[in-house]
Amino acid sequence: MVKINIAIDGPSAAGKSTTAKRIAKALNYVHLDTGAMYRSVAYKAKNIGVDWNSEEDLVKMLQDTVITLTPQGEVFLDGVDVSKAIRENEISLGASSVSKHALVRKELVRRQQQMAEDKGFVMDGRDIGTVVLPNAEVKIFLTASAEKRAIRRYKENLEKGIESDLAVLIKEIELRDEQDRTRSASPLTQAEDAILFDSSDLTEEEVNVKLLEIIESVIKRNEV
Ligand code: C5P
Repeated sequence: MVKINIAIDGPSAAGKSTTAKRIAKALNYVHLDTGAMYRSVAYKAKNIGVDWNSEEDLVKMLQDTVITLTPQGEVFLDGVDVSKAIRENEISLGASSVSKHALVRKELVRRQQQMAEDKGFVMDGRDIGTVVLPNAEVKIFLTASAEKRAIRRYKENLEKGIESDLAVLIKEIELRDEQDRTRSASPLTQAEDAILFDSSDLTEEEVNVKLLEIIESVIKRNEV
């Protein structure tokens, strides 16, 4: 069967990672969560006292930083499993801060392109369809209203036993959207050839079914 590459972009908490994971599983592809790489940079910087606003220091730090994304979805930072630690709220905002630096992006994009040299990847992030994999055969821009995204995050937190304040979650999501959309280096934008998919009024299952239909039709077309 012919393999293709799939790019999934969109704002935070739109369900990109969950969807990308499900699609990868259904197609027997590899999922690469690029947000986890920006989160790892923010996490390490915080731990060793590097300022999220200092591009120069972050780039220096990256020279001896190894980030490994496993096919099982774990994230290793310099050999240590940080899969859970990088999901903390503070690190979400930190990831948004470190990702505004052009040189940090350049290095991570280089690593992402290297990881996905072959076909058969579902990569999710903010700049996959526009910068990382501009030739991806399928590009999806997955979005939902800030309120719906915050409600989903709120429920996820509850399931993990974490109490959160919905109004605060909405504010944080809006702040991250604003930072991601207005930065000068690769701002979050929909690629011209991406399919816009609004999941506000759909269940996770409905999103997966619809996206798989779209993707499978492209795979079929590529086989002829
Ligand atoms: O997707 P996730 O919420 O884990 O990403 C964390 C942050 O990393 C985002 O808010 C965004 O600022 C940044 N990011 C990015 N480019 C990507 C993936 C994530 O700028 N490809």
